[in-house]
Amino acid sequence: MNQDIIELAKETEICKACKNVVVGKGNENADILFVGEAPGKNEDEQGLPFVGVAGKNLDKLLEKVGLSMDDVYIANILKCRPPENRDPLPEEIKAHTPWLLEQIKEIKPKVVCSLGNYATKFFLAGGDVDSMKNQAGITNVHGKIKDMEISGVKIRLIPLFHPAAIIYRRTLVDDWEKDMEIVKKELAQKKLF
Ligand code: URA
Repeated sequence: MNQDIIELAKETEICKACKNVVVGKGNENADILFVGEAPGKNEDEQGLPFVGVAGKNLDKLLEKVGLSMDDVYIANILKCRPPENRDPLPEEIKAHTPWLLEQIKEIKPKVVCSLGNYATKFFLAGGDVDSMKNQAGITNVHGKIKDMEISGVKIRLIPLFHPAAIIYRRTLVDDWEKDMEIVKKELAQKKLF
């Protein structure tokens, strides 16, 4: 991964506080990329995304629709854990997302599933962090397909609820499953699944 971006990320308050820079996990040749918000405590300790409670839920949700780690790549908007798990700040998103954009260039996913509000608004804003605040929230856009080009890569964005939100609001499981049917249909149509 690009060393300049790691150095840039390390200038931020959160990189000074984190133990590990959490890059991603899964298959770098996958056609589907999941993008979460930021590492939590467990992710910071292990240096891998989605290994805590939200990660266990994501594993379960993926397994239910027949997707394994071989089929997907999983990354985050922020590569370090915000102190006390606070929400990411716009300047942190600006410092860290060049790295995500590099990952998109390398992985060239066909389908991107943004998990929760931060990732979804980042993509809907076309990567312009200042206009993230003007974007619709996940409750309004989950499961709605949007084709776009980001980092020179044509992607089909399918926003999904964040797996952590689903733990606390079990009624969202049905929404997640319906949305994942849309994801599976896309992958099948593209003969990727
Ligand atoms: N939540 C996220 O958004 N990302 C992680 O890596 C873990 C929890």
